[in-house]
Parts: sequence; C-alpha cells; structure tokens
Amino acid sequence: MEQQPYPRCGLCAVKACENPDMTDRVPPYCPMKLMPEEFRASLDEYACPGIDDFARKASIQEFECYENTPDGLRTKIPRIEELIHFSRKNGFKRLGLAFCGGLANEARLLTGILEKNGFEVASVMCKAGSIPKEELGLDPRYKIHGPDTFEPMCNPIAQAKILNRSGVDLAVMLGLCIGHDTLFIKYCEAPLTVLAVKDRVLGHNPLAALYTSGSYYARLAGGISEPTEA
Ligand code: SF4
Repeated sequence: MEQQPYPRCGLCAVKACENPDMTDRVPPYCPMKLMPEEFRASLDEYACPGIDDFARKASIQEFECYENTPDGLRTKIPRIEELIHFSRKNGFKRLGLAFCGGLANEARLLTGILEKNGFEVASVMCKAGSIPKEELGLDPRYKIHGPDTFEPMCNPIAQAKILNRSGVDLAVMLGLCIGHDTLFIKYCEAPLTVLAVKDRVLGHNPLAALYTSGSYYARLAGGISEPTEA
C-alpha cells in the first residue's frame, strides 16, 4: 500500500514559501501542496479577538530583534531581553517560572532580572511537593542516586497547576527534561514560552550536537543502537 505523503519542510532546499519565484519548484511533500486548506484555516484563527493582537505583537517583536546597519542586517537582543520586551508589549504583570532543580541558580538569576524589570515572578521547581518517585510506580532501580535513597519525582503537572492557580500571564519553562516538559505543556493553561531546554551534557544547548554532528557527534547520523527500556 502506498504511504500517504506527509509534510517534510525539514528536508526542503527550495524554500519556495520564502521565495515566490520558486513556486514552480515546490517539492511534492510541501505542506502548501498537501494541505493548503490549513493555511486558509489558520487565517481564520489569526482573525480571532485576542489572537490577532498577540500574533501582531509577536511579529513586531521579531522585527525588533534586528537592526539595519550600514554593514547589513544585524541581530540585536538575547532571548531574555526578548522575553522582557514581549511581556511588556502584552501588558503581562506576573510571569510564571517552571524550572528544573538542576537550574536553580539560573532560576534565581532570572527571577532577579525579571523582578528588576518590573515583573512579579511566581516560580515552582520540578521537585516541589517532595513526592517520592515510587508514587509513579517506578522501579527503585531507576532512581538516579540509588534504589535505597529518597528521591522526589519531578512533578510538571503540579508545576503547571500551581502556576495556573497563581494567575500568571505567561508561563516560562526553564530547563525541564524531555517528557516532563511535555506534561507541563499539556497541563499549563497560561500562554507558554520556553527560555531554555535541558541538555545535561551540552550546557543546555542541544543544538551543539547538531553543529558538531559532522565531527564529534557523527554517531547521531549513523543511527543510535543503544537500547532503551520502558
Ligand atoms: S513550505 Fe514548502 S517550500 Fe516552504 S520549506 Fe516547506 S516544503 Fe519547502
């Protein structure tokens, strides 16, 4: 049976969406070809009250991250500053920080910066609640510090629920693990952005493995054979 085509922008070298002159070279897996109705439907969403203004401000924010100089287009501000500017644009007063215990120092620094810039910062660390991992039905041999130690579970659902109750205007994720971040996103009711994702090895810069995937991390492109357990 022939497989249904699915969008694969990640492999596209044409980028006709950015270059209308290339429209006749759009690849067969292009979503503009496969699902054109979704683009029309998205415009209906952008016209919705609240979304319209938010989307416009997001584009203005994008614009303001660049400057035209005699030497050409240059980038201007780091993501933390972008977060501050965008929050001000939207009139956000209280920000909610969901952070990993491994980034407690970063959370403290970020809280100080955001407060200095006029925001209230509600924050919840992943281990809050101090509920043992056994409550997840986890076999103790999967505890990082050994089966006999007390190890609190990361609790992204509680992080989300507490920030929901705290009435935050924008939730900010800082360094949550893969999977925990997925649950936080699922349960968070506030608008949500990510300041940083967890990468224990690469200083929370997972893209470093891509930038070195032609050399030190070439094994990634070869396909990883290490076993996974569930
Ligand atoms: S939308 Fe189409 S043209 Fe644009 S990157 Fe995706 S596949 Fe390429």
